[in-house]
Amino acid sequence: MDRSQTRVLIEEVIKDLKQKEDFLEMDNPSERDMTLESAGEILKTTDKIIKSYIRVSREDGGIMRIPAYRVQHNNISGFYKGGIRFSDNIEESEVENLAILMTLKNALHGLPFGGAKGGVDINPRDFTERELNLVSKKYVQRFALNIGPTQDIPAPDLGTNERIIDWMVGEYKTIHPGQAYSGSFTGKSVENNGARGRRESTGVGTFLSYFYLLNEWFPNKRGSDDPYNESRSSQWETLNRLHEKIDRNDPVDVAVQGFGNVGSVAALEAYNCSEAKHRVTAVSDQFVTLTNPEGLNIKKLQEYNNKFKRLPNTKEQFEEYNITAEAAGPKAVLTSDVDVLIFAAVEDQVTKENMKDIKADILVEGANAPVSVEADLHLQEQGGIIIPDILANAGGVHVSYLEWKQSRVTEMYSQDEIVKEMGSQMKSTLEKVYEEYFHEKEHTMRFTCYSLALRRLTSLLYKHGKLF
Ligand code: GLU
Repeated sequence: MDRSQTRVLIEEVIKDLKQKEDFLEMDNPSERDMTLESAGEILKTTDKIIKSYIRVSREDGGIMRIPAYRVQHNNISGFYKGGIRFSDNIEESEVENLAILMTLKNALHGLPFGGAKGGVDINPRDFTERELNLVSKKYVQRFALNIGPTQDIPAPDLGTNERIIDWMVGEYKTIHPGQAYSGSFTGKSVENNGARGRRESTGVGTFLSYFYLLNEWFPNKRGSDDPYNESRSSQWETLNRLHEKIDRNDPVDVAVQGFGNVGSVAALEAYNCSEAKHRVTAVSDQFVTLTNPEGLNIKKLQEYNNKFKRLPNTKEQFEEYNITAEAAGPKAVLTSDVDVLIFAAVEDQVTKENMKDIKADILVEGANAPVSVEADLHLQEQGGIIIPDILANAGGVHVSYLEWKQSRVTEMYSQDEIVKEMGSQMKSTLEKVYEEYFHEKEHTMRFTCYSLALRRLTSLLYKHGKLF
């Protein structure tokens, strides 16, 4: 992926903000320009990049030297915050790009955090329990001085989970005895002061981001004299068409790429949705795409996946577990003929090369950076609606905030309270973005999201006197 895309977009948004005179009202226009310019420079620059090597003894007796990173992009809106991913061939530029996205995501959603990300260059599937435990503890040993409840608060991400976070917290506690340690990580298990519902939160939020658009926001706005019809006529047409389907009680067809923490939960939300009929006709993991035009039984697939950590893919497995599906290659999911395509795997899935083959009307980025800027523009021109990562996948960090807050006030929220609070916070940002996006003609929804985030960050920098 061209990872300069995020920074290029920041630059474009800053340029656009210079034209928006009602933003950051200042008497002197050149002072205003300089303020925006310098905010742009600050946000295109990363505060700190730490690289280290973890040495781990493998079961086969060998010693492995593994690159590990923690990137702290910016803390203007609060303590550094972001997940740690365990992923094969991860590079510094990828972690840095993800850290920038965290700064923008937290700012867009009004969360009191900055942006950071961590990475370890391993495929967790190739490591035993003992080895993973060792990698997790060593990661904390390397970065312990940079992590803390009022400094930088990691969480799970791709390839990591609550078990890994619990090991990390344990190590953090050993290194910093007597200190408050509970707020140093989020995404802990519930037994270890984690938040109920944290594991499901990103998938639930991802589902909500399009469901809210289709089922709440759009029906409320649909009317003959609404201004959106003119500004975004092809997107409006798409929504009208989908809504007619819902009105006829025809199912909304959904495909989900990725069947981990995000994808399996988003698919289950769609499968269980009682307010509008859904049919999940394709799901995939890194090995296979499963399809069924009548709808897959996501519950059964989830049970299988929980047991074997992958989707079934042979006739024998389908028969044994009573699953009706056809198997195809893992990338087939992307070109499914569906209404909604949810990304819940890795970056770089839709680019110049395959953008013309995409058939879905609504694309939802549960994963980070799956659609390139070029593909984003092309699909929008075709009437597509692309709900970007920093908007769609923030359910996780919303609940992380509640978990972090919970550790500071020593209070436990119930699962109901957490789901409700996350839903209402997500909806309030979704509404803001949809309102602005559908009102104007030119930009992508990603641009709108960056613009809202950068307005918040620039105002904070200005208010705190932190500009050059
Ligand atoms: N890894 C998740 C993300 O990319 C959650 C981060 C967090 O909770 O800090 O948003």
